[in-house]
Amino acid sequence: MTNYIGIDLGTTNSAVSKLDETGRPIIVHNPHGSNITPSVISFSSAKKYDVGEVARKSLGEPNTFGRFKRDMGGKAEFEAFGTKHTPESLSALLLKKLKEDSESTIGDIEEAVVTIPANFANEAREATLNAARKAGLNVKHIINEPTAAALYYAFHSGRELDGTYAVYDLGGGTFDVSIISVHGKNVEVLATEGVSKLGGDDFDKALQKIVAQKYKEETGFDLEPEDYNLIDAEEDKKSLSRRETVKIGIRSAGGRTNFEVQQKDFEEAISSFIAQTEMLCETALDDANLAPSDISEVFLVGGSSRIPCIQKSVERVFKREPVSFANPDEVVALGAALYAAYKSDGKFLNSIQKQSVEKISVAEITSKFFGTISVGMDNARDQLARGNSIIIEKGEKIPCTKEESFFTMGEGQTAVNCVVTESNTKETDPKFVKIIWEGDLELPAGRPANQEIVVRFSYDQNQTMKCSFIDVETDKKTEVDLSMGKGKESADVDIDKFMVE
Ligand code: AMP
Repeated sequence: MTNYIGIDLGTTNSAVSKLDETGRPIIVHNPHGSNITPSVISFSSAKKYDVGEVARKSLGEPNTFGRFKRDMGGKAEFEAFGTKHTPESLSALLLKKLKEDSESTIGDIEEAVVTIPANFANEAREATLNAARKAGLNVKHIINEPTAAALYYAFHSGRELDGTYAVYDLGGGTFDVSIISVHGKNVEVLATEGVSKLGGDDFDKALQKIVAQKYKEETGFDLEPEDYNLIDAEEDKKSLSRRETVKIGIRSAGGRTNFEVQQKDFEEAISSFIAQTEMLCETALDDANLAPSDISEVFLVGGSSRIPCIQKSVERVFKREPVSFANPDEVVALGAALYAAYKSDGKFLNSIQKQSVEKISVAEITSKFFGTISVGMDNARDQLARGNSIIIEKGEKIPCTKEESFFTMGEGQTAVNCVVTESNTKETDPKFVKIIWEGDLELPAGRPANQEIVVRFSYDQNQTMKCSFIDVETDKKTEVDLSMGKGKESADVDIDKFMVE
C-alpha cells in the first residue's frame, strides 16, 4: 500500500499518522507498539545510533541528545564521537527512523506533511524542512501544529463545529495559542501567539530545583544532578498531575534520603511560565479582536496541558473549562494526516478516504512581521538613519503579496543592499529585528538619485516567502525564496553515514 502521512516532530516525542481505510486518521505504531516515539538520539559509535525509547534511557549520558527541536535553526552543536551534529541533522536522523519504521508496517510513503510550531522563526522552519528532505521524505506541504490539532478536532468532535475556538498547545518545548474559526471542515486561523522555548522541559527543571532545595534542607549537602536527573524529574512531574504529593527517594553516596514534594510547591515554581502563557492567550484574543466570551470552546493540545494548574489557568483566561476529548500527544499528528491526504493528488486514496477529506479548507496567517531595512531621513534628528519597514504584517492572511516602493539616495548609486527581516513585534529599529536574508541589487551606473526600487514579498500557503527587490526602470531583480529549505543551504552532517543500531 502507498500512503500519505502526517508527522508531528515534537520536542519530547514524535508521532506518525495516516488515514485508515474508512478515512479516519489513526496513529502508526512504532515497532515497540507505542503511539509515540521519544525524540531522542543516542550514538553508540562513530556511525551507529539508536532512536526513541532505547535512546531515552541514556538521556543525561554523553553522546545522547534530546530536546534538540528547541534549538532548531540555531547554532547549537551536539558532539558525538568526533562529529558535530546540528539540531537539523539530529532531526533528520530521527525522521529517517520514523520513516523506515512506518514503511515497515504500512508500506510505501508517497508524501508526508511535517508539522511546525506556529511560532517557529523562518530559519527553524527551514531547518525542519531540510531535515525532512535529508531523511528522504517527500514533503510538499507543512501545517502549523495548532492548526493541525484544530483540523482533527473539527473532524472528530462528534458534532459539527461552528464558531470560534482556541487551541492551547503546551508541549515539551514550545507553547502556541491560536484563535481559530471552524465551520464544519473549514478551518481559518484568526490569530496566533506563542514562544518557541517554553514547555514541559522548563517544568522538569523547576521540579529538579525544588528537589535540590529540599535535599539540601534535609542533608545539608548539594544534590548531584546524576542523583536526580531530568528523567526522574519528568516522571515525578507527571505523578504530580495525578496526586497532591509525590514521594522522593534520593540514593546518594551518603545513603538514602526521603522527603515529599507538594503539588502546590511545584505550581508556585512554574507560576511565572503560566503567567507568560496567560499573557499570550490574552494577546491572541486581542489580535483577533475578540473577548473570552466569543470563544465557543478551548481545545487542549500537548502533553503539558495535562497539568491541573495549567487547565485552571486556561479556564481563568477563557472563562470556560477547556476540553480534551482526544489524546493531547496525538492530535497534531492525526490532524497532519488529514491535511496530508487533503493536499495530496489523491492517487492512493480510496473513495471513502477521498470523501473524508474533500470538504476541508485551511486558511493560515503569518506568525511574524517581515520587513526590509532602508536608509531614510530621520526628521527628528535631521540626519540619515537606517530603519526597518514592515512589508508583511503579523496575522496577515496567507497567501498574500505586499509591496512597497523605496528610492535610491545617491547620484550614480550602483547597488542597493537587499535585506529581509523578521520580528515578533512591529519594529522600526533595525537593532531589534532578525535579518533572515541579505543580498545586493546591482544598478546601472550614471543615474540620478531617486530611482524607484520596489520591494515585493509574496507569502504562500506553504509558508514559503518569495522576496523580490526590483529596479523599476530596468526591471532588474534580486530574488530569493525563503523557507521550504530553499533559503539558506546548510553545510551539515551527511546523515547517510549513520546506521541505526
Ligand atoms: P508533547 O511535546 O506534546 O509530546 O509533550 C511532552 C511534554 O508533556 C513533556 O514535557 C512531558 O513531560 C509532558 N507531559 C506528558 N504527560 C504529562 C502529565 N501527565 N503531566 C505533566 N506533564 C506531562
